[in-house]
Amino acid sequence: MSKDYAVIGLGRFGGSICRELSREGKQVLAIDIDEAKVNEFKNIASHAVILDSTDEESLKEIGIHNFEHVIVAIGDSLQASILTTVILTDLHVERITVKAQNDYHEKILRKLGVDRVIHPERDMGRRIAQNIISNNILDFLDLSDDHSIVEVKTGKKMIGKSLIDLDIRANFGCNVMAIKSGETIDVSPSPEYVFKPDDILLVIGSDDDIHRFEKHLI
Ligand code: ADP
Repeated sequence: MSKDYAVIGLGRFGGSICRELSREGKQVLAIDIDEAKVNEFKNIASHAVILDSTDEESLKEIGIHNFEHVIVAIGDSLQASILTTVILTDLHVERITVKAQNDYHEKILRKLGVDRVIHPERDMGRRIAQNIISNNILDFLDLSDDHSIVEVKTGKKMIGKSLIDLDIRANFGCNVMAIKSGETIDVSPSPEYVFKPDDILLVIGSDDDIHRFEKHLI
């Protein structure tokens, strides 16, 4: 058996990762300290084991270092999440992704050199806030602290005008990466493209530039 993924902690988040990986046909070992949770995943994941991930010996026994990617999704105990992560790094697990519960947790995980720290509640909160602030922002992806990609509805002032007419790059410093028009998506829009009322734009740029663009054209 090729040992692809191990998911530690089968709460809402870890459980959902486990289901999705399994749906994609990946080999997944589902791990939790709680027997009921493990039973729930027996028929979903390739394997499911009851184990306390803060116990180094138990992790060694299942050969955790053979897994290509281990996801730590312990949401209820910061201490257990950190200790588990320390053990995984000590055992030289190839790739580790950890769900952070708060900024303090994230800071520690980054110091431990975790490949990928995810903060789903905060990120989803930010996306929803952006969507609440502007009805035109449909989705939002943070690239860094000050750069993003946003999905926006075409503004009234843009309709009937082309990319050349609006010169978004020169005027606002951001780039229109793609335009969705009905079922079609154009990933390299021509400068002559003329905007239609229900078009959706994918715009990349600094947050300040995107806000200026939004304020003036959307
Ligand atoms: P979520 O917020 O994603 O729903 P939860 O806090 O509900 O997350 O779930 C975390 C899961 O991690 C629980 O199922 C819990 O039993 C499991 N867990 C907690 N500590 C350990 C541990 N030391 N070893 C293995 N699993 C653990």
